[in-house]
Amino acid sequence: MFHQIEGFVIDKDISMADMKGIVDRFLKSIFGQDLSIRLRPSFFPFVEPGAEFDLQCVKCRGKGCRICKETGWLEIGGLGMIHPNVFEKLGVDSEEYTGFAFGFGIDRIAMLRYGLADLRQLFEGDQLFLSQFPIQP
Ligand SMILES: [Zn+2]
Repeated sequence: MFHQIEGFVIDKDISMADMKGIVDRFLKSIFGQDLSIRLRPSFFPFVEPGAEFDLQCVKCRGKGCRICKETGWLEIGGLGMIHPNVFEKLGVDSEEYTGFAFGFGIDRIAMLRYGLADLRQLFEGDQLFLSQFPIQP
C-alpha cells in the first residue's frame, strides 16, 4: 500500500520551465537547497512530452550508495505537459491553454525525508513512532 498525490496546473502560457521550476522548488523545500533534480524522458498516456523526475540522493548527495543503487539519484515521480487531445476532449482550447500534470508517492517522500527503513511503519498506528514527526507550519 502507498499513497499517491496527483496534481496539475492549467493556464495561459504554462511551459515546461514552469513545470520543472515548481517541482524543483517543492523538492528543495523538503530536502534542502543543495540537491539537484533531473527529468528523464518517459511515456505517460495523457501528457506529451512526459518525464520521470529524480532527486539527487538524499543520503549520499549524488556520490552513490545502497539507497540509490549507486546511481546518485532517486526516482520520485512522473510528470509532463498535458496532451492537447485532453484539452480538446474537455472542450478547452489547447491553442490558448497549456498545462502540466504530475504525480508522486507521498509515503516515499516521507521515507526519504525522515530516513525511515520500512514504509509500513507509517501505517501501524504506533503513537510513539508517529509522535517523533511534529506537525510543522
Ligand atoms: Zn545514494
